Amino acid sequence: MLLIDQNRCVGCGICITVCPEAMTLEKGKGFAEILTENLDCIRKAMLACPQKAIKEIKDRLIFAIGTDDHKTIKSNDHVGQSLYFQIFEYSEGKMALKETRENPKFKEDETKLHGDPGKAKATASVLSGVDVLIGKIMGPNIVRLKNQFVCAIIREKEITAAMDIIKANICAIVHEKNKQDSKEKSGIILK
Ligand code: SF4
Repeated sequence: MLLIDQNRCVGCGICITVCPEAMTLEKGKGFAEILTENLDCIRKAMLACPQKAIKEIKDRLIFAIGTDDHKTIKSNDHVGQSLYFQIFEYSEGKMALKETRENPKFKEDETKLHGDPGKAKATASVLSGVDVLIGKIMGPNIVRLKNQFVCAIIREKEITAAMDIIKANICAIVHEKNKQDSKEKSGIILK
């Protein structure tokens, strides 16, 4: 799927000049948008874009969102303390809820200190197959978890509203996921 990386697009309009039939730029928004997936035309725009902001994303991504109530992202403690993880699949521009996993280590973890390596292991154990861990707060164990998952913070509280924020940041998420050097990996903030 072709997407505009909104964190890279500066709104210069060069892509519109090259490919007006498939791309648009509403000045109020400040970033380009793809109207139709006219591959030949958009590939020319990709080459012309000075920001490399037009991306082809083929990845299917699995997200875990920490929650206590199935409606809001856990906000009174870090994500590893969530009672549940809602598991979403991203594919071709859509997010779909696949399952809800209980966080069985939650009570056991309460006795451990923030940043305990065992807590990172406990969190990771319920997140098999997950690519991206979403929370409002990450604890000190982000130093370990970021090597296994893309760790992303969303300030928005409602999970349904967070879906649009995630979709708008797919390029940045894929970029972070594809980093090879663990020293380069870091938590990201989705806006
Ligand atoms: S050329 Fe690139 S940076 Fe400029 S508006 Fe188009 S996508 Fe954005």
